[in-house]
Amino acid sequence: MADNLTKEQRSKTMAKIKSKWTKQERTVHLCLNKKKIKHKMHPKIKGSPDLIIPEKKMAVFLHGCFWHSCKRCFVEPKSNRKYWINKINGNKKRDSKNKKVLVKNGWEVAVIWEHQIKRNLDKACCRLTK
Ligand SMILES: [Zn+2]
Repeated sequence: MADNLTKEQRSKTMAKIKSKWTKQERTVHLCLNKKKIKHKMHPKIKGSPDLIIPEKKMAVFLHGCFWHSCKRCFVEPKSNRKYWINKINGNKKRDSKNKKVLVKNGWEVAVIWEHQIKRNLDKACCRLTK
C-alpha cells in the first residue's frame, strides 16, 4: 500500500482504529483521512451503511466480492455450495433492503467493491467526493 506515513506514525494511526474493523474498512478509513474527507464509520442510522459522508449526504457500503457476489469476481464455491449460495443471497437481499431505506431517507448510496480497493484505492475513494 502506498502512503506517506512513516512506520511509527502508521502504527499509531492503526492503533487508534478498533481492531474489529475489517481490513477494507481500515483501508478506506485511512485513505479518506489522508484526503481529509470527513466521514463517519459505522453510523447508527437506518440501513446501516459501512460509512457516511455527511456533507454529501452519501452512504457507502464496502462490499466483499465473495460475500456480495460481485459480477466481476464472484466464483461459486465448490464445496458446501448450497450453504454459501443461501448465505450470499441473504446478504444481497439485505443489501437491497438497506439501500431502499437509505434512498427513501434522502441518502445517495455508493458501493465500493473489494476489487476496486485492491486495484486502485485512491480512485475508489475519490469517487466519493465527486
Ligand atoms: Zn469484485
